[in-house]
Amino acid sequence: MDGESKIQNLKSKIGTRHRPKLGQHFLHDQRFRTKILEELDLRADDVVIEIGPGRGAMTGLLTGRARKVIAVEVDRELAQQLEADFAGQPAVQIILADILRVDLAAICRQEGVAQAFVFGNLPYYITSPILHKLFEQRDSIRSMGLLMQREVAERLTAEPGTRDYAYLSIATQVFSQPCIAVAVPPGAFAPAPKVQSALVTFRMKAKFDQWPREKGDEFLEFVKRCFAQKRKNLLNNLGGIYLRTRLLEAFEAAGKPANLRAEELSLEELAAVFESLTRGSK
Ligand code: SAM
Repeated sequence: MDGESKIQNLKSKIGTRHRPKLGQHFLHDQRFRTKILEELDLRADDVVIEIGPGRGAMTGLLTGRARKVIAVEVDRELAQQLEADFAGQPAVQIILADILRVDLAAICRQEGVAQAFVFGNLPYYITSPILHKLFEQRDSIRSMGLLMQREVAERLTAEPGTRDYAYLSIATQVFSQPCIAVAVPPGAFAPAPKVQSALVTFRMKAKFDQWPREKGDEFLEFVKRCFAQKRKNLLNNLGGIYLRTRLLEAFEAAGKPANLRAEELSLEELAAVFESLTRGSK
């Protein structure tokens, strides 16, 4: 292929324009679209909330597998194009909005369901805020499948004591069982991102399901503080909040040394330290 044909070929894959600032990498490889669809734990009566449908690479496929797809796109031009593409299809609704401002519970109420399925080939520049937002709204989510940067996928599924184990691993594993389901190479997207990608599926099951909701939220706040400065040990990260003596007592009760770091603790151990610290006063 000569240079001009290569450019034309690329343009036809990418389309007329894309906005890199909005993390626009469109999934053009049909084989990966199908593979991803197969991995999603979709039910015929599901209402799917799609994050960033873009040019609808997955929207139509999702429609064939669920009752309704509500696609939330922040790019006005893309949203208008999708409106036109799916006109006359009541099973698809396009919402022009920032996903970080969307109330999932309100969508569920509008659709008469308790929970929705969430799917998204995520805009990578806001992966963490999106995950936070989703876990905050976990009561409205039955199950999820999210395509993200492979490095982030590895963090979400990381085991304690490993380099990748961080706040996001715990936030994810407290509220769900994440699994890396499909590895997706850059060439499957147009334009190709600089990084590898992966589909993560999330079985929404709380680790400590006997905890009331507020306790889960408090635990997350606690974990955020534990990992506030990765180089510091737990005593330093929590020093401004709890008395040193209480912290030492809590570590001892968990059978851990004073110079303990957050990443050395399993989810259960972090929960034990949290419970022991919150049982009495600070
Ligand atoms: N789903 C399409 C696909 O697979 O080809 C596009 C995926 S692309 C990686 C991410 C999409 O998210 C883009 O269409 C982008 O415009 C959209 N997006 C970016 N920020 C957003 C936000 N805050 N809320 C909703 N959509 C957003």
